[in-house]
Amino acid sequence: MKKECIKEMIGKTPILKKMQAAEEVIWLNPDKISFADAKNSCELAMADIEDAEARLQRFAPFIMKCFPETEARGGIIESVLTEIPNMRNRINEKYNSHLQGRLLLKQDSHLAIAGSVKARGGIYEVLKHTEELAVANGILKVTDDYAKLAEPECRKFFAQYTIQVGSTGNLGMSIGIMSAAVGYQVIVHMSADAKQWKKDLLRSHGVTVIEYQADYSEAVKNGRKQSDENPMSYFVDDENSRNLFLGYAVAAKRLIGQLEEKQVQVDAEHPLFVYIPCGVGGAPGGITFGLKQVFGDAVHCFFVEPVQAPCMLVGMSTGLHNAISVQDIGLTGLTHADGLAVGRPSGFVGGVMKPLLSGEFTVQDGKLYDYMRDVLETEDIFLEPSACAAFQGPVKLENSPRTQEYIAQNALEEKIRQATHIVWATGGSLVPEEIREEYRNTYLPEE
Ligand SMILES: *Cc1c(COP(=O)(O)O)cnc(C)c1O
Repeated sequence: MKKECIKEMIGKTPILKKMQAAEEVIWLNPDKISFADAKNSCELAMADIEDAEARLQRFAPFIMKCFPETEARGGIIESVLTEIPNMRNRINEKYNSHLQGRLLLKQDSHLAIAGSVKARGGIYEVLKHTEELAVANGILKVTDDYAKLAEPECRKFFAQYTIQVGSTGNLGMSIGIMSAAVGYQVIVHMSADAKQWKKDLLRSHGVTVIEYQADYSEAVKNGRKQSDENPMSYFVDDENSRNLFLGYAVAAKRLIGQLEEKQVQVDAEHPLFVYIPCGVGGAPGGITFGLKQVFGDAVHCFFVEPVQAPCMLVGMSTGLHNAISVQDIGLTGLTHADGLAVGRPSGFVGGVMKPLLSGEFTVQDGKLYDYMRDVLETEDIFLEPSACAAFQGPVKLENSPRTQEYIAQNALEEKIRQATHIVWATGGSLVPEEIREEYRNTYLPEE
């Protein structure tokens, strides 16, 4: 963006001034409207989520065959929902948070195959493409047992095709591992911040990893270019993919039963607050989209981003979406939070979130390690630092003026006592022990 435009933008959007100074902020979305009014403005609907859910069900026998660790759930890749009362006490004592309702953790950190939320969108997109290719070429009917796709002649068919993706790490792992399982050639274009252990793990699955000195956008750009040059190659577009988005959205439907199991009521009297770390926006956007379809106005969704890489917040608060980057306002886009080091948000997701999202929190990197140690000490659950960004939500919700404003605006003063809060833990189980040890010993000064 041009310098003068940015100056003007900052004048019009006061929160940008604080964000430029890398201060933690809380933003309430002024464009949120009732779900009944928002519902029809989106190109996607509940029927699309149901279609995605049915597709994942069709693939379950195949997934079970390729990944025996999914047998217990019949080939369905789903994570547990865990109540974390000790962490709730820790938050209230250590951060003076006054959180009143129950606190639950959605452990996508422990999703099978990819160990992160990317096991939802990334794997779904690979499977959808696989179904399309196989059906179009007459080797599969949707009424077949999809376990047949694991047979050698099918794998030979898929080996003619290539899948490519740009990634900061976790998306590459989910696309890479699943694509390799189907039999595709896979190329993952990794940005400079991607961790060595992730590259090593992918290479051990036979994936080609191309490394870039630049950030995520550059890796995506090159990946797309290489893929476009090859007619047998398919590029997974994290910024615009409806498929990825719908893969994430299926999470909401599966949450219904899990909440019932925990005897959590969600309705006008019993609000549900959900906090999700945000990178380019696909994962938190898809999950939020699904949750709004399922729970409507009873669910309040907030994204959390690092202070140096709040791309979605820059895009949504200015209304410029993907026409502005965090670098445009002088931030580095660099963060310890893997998967969140994104400078420019998805324009598609920003548009869908405009009438649905409640707001956003930003968080300093140092706190990610504090929250990580807190949840490890109190609940014995390991999460990667980026996943811990979500704790900024419950920590701040009932002890800051901005969020009190939200509670008042939505007439939740009485209801907040019987609210439930879900921290969406987006990754962690694949982090090797020596890296965990490093994380446990990382302390950053306040910025
Ligand atoms: C990718 C990722 C996110 C955010 O997802 P986006 O689709 O990039 O917004 C959050 N947490 C972790 C651990 C991730 O890998």
